[in-house]
Amino acid sequence: NALVHQYELTHPRSKEAYDRAKNVLPAGSTRSVLVSEPFPLVIKSAQGCHFTTIDGITLEDFVSDFSAGIYGHSHPVVHQAVQEALATGFSLGGVTQKETELAEILTMRFPSFEKVRFCNSGTEANTFALATAVAYTQREKIVVFENGYHGGTINFGATRNQMNLPHEFVIAKYNSIDETRPLLTNEIAAILVEPLQAAGGMRPATPEFLQFLREAATNIGAVLIFDEVVTSRLHYNGIQGAWNIMPDMTTVGKYLGGGFPFGAFGGSSKIMNRFDSSDKSIAIHHSGTFNNNIFTMTAAVAASKLITPAELERLNRLGDGFREQANILIQKAGVNCMSFSGYGSAIGVHFTGSEANFLLDCFYFTLLSRGIAIGRRGFMSLNLMHTEASMHRLLEDVSCFLENFSGDFATKARL
Ligand code: PLP
Repeated sequence: NALVHQYELTHPRSKEAYDRAKNVLPAGSTRSVLVSEPFPLVIKSAQGCHFTTIDGITLEDFVSDFSAGIYGHSHPVVHQAVQEALATGFSLGGVTQKETELAEILTMRFPSFEKVRFCNSGTEANTFALATAVAYTQREKIVVFENGYHGGTINFGATRNQMNLPHEFVIAKYNSIDETRPLLTNEIAAILVEPLQAAGGMRPATPEFLQFLREAATNIGAVLIFDEVVTSRLHYNGIQGAWNIMPDMTTVGKYLGGGFPFGAFGGSSKIMNRFDSSDKSIAIHHSGTFNNNIFTMTAAVAASKLITPAELERLNRLGDGFREQANILIQKAGVNCMSFSGYGSAIGVHFTGSEANFLLDCFYFTLLSRGIAIGRRGFMSLNLMHTEASMHRLLEDVSCFLENFSGDFATKARL
């Protein structure tokens, strides 16, 4: 493929770095999602909504660290905060006021958070939330959904592997009330659901489906957990606030750590007070050396001031406008195996049919050749540095792709 050949020619240093990495890092990186054929881009530096590879090529970043990079790269406010943390001293190994400040911010924003606890990733947040629900209900089974992704060890998507937590998972069909209903029995400890399946293809839940889960969880006495690790960027109060559907527990992570390792889980005081019980027989213990690390706490508190309802709305408008116009372009080109999905600032691109992977590769490398980076499997998320002009550029690139490939598309679609 000429596009891949061009990529190889223009990124010799990335290739060299990748070959070296493979000697000591299986698959060449510790994040499977970043590794792809023929070799991944190796980044040297980043600023605003651009990053530069070690080959000296600067790309506009529409991955935004898989939604965690909502501030854009090296935002001066976050930069300043981290310098403060450096000056204070780090590896403090003790309680600080920043921890309380961040908890106050999160409990103010997300209605189901009466109390929260911190950890170092979204995976951990979900791990602890599930353990909390099991301890709280004294039940074992957990309902999750096909294509759900809650972290490297709680993964029900295409890349599911043997590493999942050893819970008794019951896998239901996302957005299907009829197929989920029979699985919701009084043996269920928790229902864990993403209000929008992110890694699963940027597919939003319907409000009716989430409302159904809410009512069913109450009826069977299970803990309803919303994984808002990604959807917390879609509304100031999360999807729970936007749609006024209150889970018993919520997990968050990604951008809410100010761009540093972060996860949080929380919920009603009734559940969360188990972490503070004088009755040792029901108390839950939760620890972690870096749970309140001063870099994350300081960066998160500072970065929270950049996130306003209006800014999140602006990003959603950019995403919605792009999605709508891009899908119109696709329709006009008569291409029926390509579409953009998502909700607001979270966007996915999809191809269907027997050539789906090939076409996704073509799209990915076409964009790269025009200075745009998206996730290799079609993941896109916007950041505060993106503007109308960014979206306009992206639309032009979609147009260019459609022009170059529409002949091919027609052939493939017939196959
Ligand atoms: N939950 C959702 C919905 C996610 O998309 C992700 C990561 O992509 C996670 C949890 C896991 O978060 P982390 O990568 O911080 O462990």
